[in-house]
Amino acid sequence: MRVEGVVQGVGFRPFVYALATRLGLAGHVGNDSRGVFVEIEGPEAGVADFLASLTRDAPPLARIERVSATAITPNGAAGFSIAPSDPGGQRSALVSADSATCEDCLRELADPADRRFGYPFINCTNCGPRFTIVRDVPYDRPLTTMAGFPMCAECAAEYHDPADRRFHAQPVCCPACGPRLHLLDAAGDELPGEPLKQAARLLAEGHVLAVKGLGGYHLAVDAGSEPAAAALRARKHREDKPFAQMVPDIGGVRRLCALDALDEDALAGDAVDGTAVDLAAERLLTGRRRPIVLLPRRAGAPVARAVAPGSHHLGVMLPYTPLHHLLLREFGGPIVLTSGNSSDEPIAYTDDDALARLAGIADEFLAHDRPIHIRTDDSVVRPLRGREMLVRRARGYVPEPITMRTRFRRQVLACGAELKSTFCLGKDDHAFMSHHIGDLENFETFRSYTEGISHFQRLFDVIPQVVAHDLHPEYLSTKYALEREGVELTGVQHHHAHIASCLADNGEEGPVIGVAFDGLGYGPDGAIWGGEFLLADLTGFERAGHLATVPMPGGAAAIKQPWRMAAAYLDGAYPCGPPDGLDIQRRNAQRWHDVLTMARRGINAPVTSSAGRLFDAVAAILGVRDVINYEGQAAVELEQRADLSERAAYAAGIDEGDPLRIAGSDLIRAVADDLLAGVDSRVIAARFHLGVARVIVTTCMLLRERSGLRVVALSGGVFQNLLLLNQAAAGLEREDFRVLVHSQVPPNDGGISLGQAAVAAARDRLA
Ligand SMILES: [Zn+2]
Ligand SMILES: [Zn+2]
Repeated sequence: MRVEGVVQGVGFRPFVYALATRLGLAGHVGNDSRGVFVEIEGPEAGVADFLASLTRDAPPLARIERVSATAITPNGAAGFSIAPSDPGGQRSALVSADSATCEDCLRELADPADRRFGYPFINCTNCGPRFTIVRDVPYDRPLTTMAGFPMCAECAAEYHDPADRRFHAQPVCCPACGPRLHLLDAAGDELPGEPLKQAARLLAEGHVLAVKGLGGYHLAVDAGSEPAAAALRARKHREDKPFAQMVPDIGGVRRLCALDALDEDALAGDAVDGTAVDLAAERLLTGRRRPIVLLPRRAGAPVARAVAPGSHHLGVMLPYTPLHHLLLREFGGPIVLTSGNSSDEPIAYTDDDALARLAGIADEFLAHDRPIHIRTDDSVVRPLRGREMLVRRARGYVPEPITMRTRFRRQVLACGAELKSTFCLGKDDHAFMSHHIGDLENFETFRSYTEGISHFQRLFDVIPQVVAHDLHPEYLSTKYALEREGVELTGVQHHHAHIASCLADNGEEGPVIGVAFDGLGYGPDGAIWGGEFLLADLTGFERAGHLATVPMPGGAAAIKQPWRMAAAYLDGAYPCGPPDGLDIQRRNAQRWHDVLTMARRGINAPVTSSAGRLFDAVAAILGVRDVINYEGQAAVELEQRADLSERAAYAAGIDEGDPLRIAGSDLIRAVADDLLAGVDSRVIAARFHLGVARVIVTTCMLLRERSGLRVVALSGGVFQNLLLLNQAAAGLEREDFRVLVHSQVPPNDGGISLGQAAVAAARDRLA
């Protein structure tokens, strides 16, 4: 038998050994370059049982992609053994993602009789650090950041015993031989006392604590303390982007969030009540990946205002390392656990860097001496129709590959976009998409990006021959691609990459009607695209429809100040001038005229078909937000404003040329008219969302008539908006379309690199 997938370093051989021994079968199991091989010999019924159990009962961290079995002549072997590994053979084995502490380890952690009682670094084959400690392959202790911790005799005995849960668990350790905690003051000097007890006491006293986690440092405060949360916000220079919280247990999450209201309809009128627990949300929270889960906030949830000011959602996660479990148990309530950085810098992950950069933010540091090899943020997800939608894909997911339907002919590097940057390597039938690296706008982030590419190339033994990149000439990722020597370059249009990403995410190749709605992307005509209907497969696309363009007065300034988009849209919607009495005009009276002049004369006012800018304009008109403090804020708050019990939808005209042009200004006029007529802004926000969903459906129906295509792929950052996504998907399905949405990678620019890789591979097959 041959077993392929993530089957090394996850306790697969001991599992096979135990299974075969229990069934009284003879033979052996071993690792090689392709995964795990097994020879089994015994009565037919036993062998059949063995085969059935092999995939059904596989260890929790294993991901089996293929099992193939061949009958061979019995050789009369006696007993079952684990064959020694061929040391050169493990290079193409898959490294697994970091995984939350398992139940067995938690039991030992809490057992005073266990030798790892209360030890903050307990782990086993089924849990613990992986990706964040691996320096090189083969995945073996000397090539991890555990190299500096030689195993004691007891740990070594467990490590070498095939019947033990810690057999070949590379990070295995104990209080006698493993890493240790330290509590440091802001100068880096060690504080006296038991670090965990002291740390919990400091949190309770309102201190800001830096805590070293799996992929970097976090900043922690008591989530119930207004002064502590406000201090953290002020010191981090973070205005109102919500902080994530770590909550001791699922009961604690229920006190904060509506786990049961994931059918968003049930949330009507903000009345959140009910007892039927949504299994999808609970599974996400308690699973081994442990992302931050964005959930509807309960009215009156006991959270300091400064944690998530004005937000109807909270980002919560459960403890995922033994250190977190112990700290939360000691503290006894939810804590803010936000990335250890100041404003837009990348998260600090080395001890020296953390002390240097976080000294002005954190009062004390709960640190330890196990190095982090690669900076990795927490992942962020939203529950979606019983599944998950990734907003940020990082710790717990990476570096697990996406399995491609068709193999890569040559090895590929896809360089991604600019914001929420990731890259992706393609080899055989695997796409290895990187963790979220961040916005490539400062040196430190760009260095993470280039170092990340080198690290992944080494880890997965990839030497790219084809390099894919965005068409935007100013993206640092594009410039990086153009500087790679001795490779074949292929440029992939931004929204084509979004649609290709959605196809690859679903194991499909098209052709489809692709709806790519996002903030901005470079169009081949040099214009700024972002509200696109593409007839696309993996190799190419035709732009079949788009939002009618509007000027962006002030260029980048119009992104930061949504009221400027409102001004430009209102100007187009009312040729004789917008009606009197709109509050937005009064609020921005000083610059209104200048901005309109810019828009009309096209001075520093590039035109765009961006759907993101349309949402911005509506948010500003409704007074939700004139100026944003973080990317996408206006649209996020507009979604939260919508009254989910509303059923009416605004209509938008479609100019049936080729390409089709959708009149976003019709929606703007409906919004402004209703506002002036005194309609509640929550009702207007809902009618706008439903109107966008409806025009998506209508446009797709027109394109089906023209093209005969009956499958629609929805991608782009705007589809992180679940109200829009659910309405559009449901409307399309009612019209007999098959709808593809994302599940393994984010719909935002974080998923672009996968799409670029898929396009590069498809073009390479044509060549
Ligand atoms: Zn464990
Ligand atoms: Zn030990």
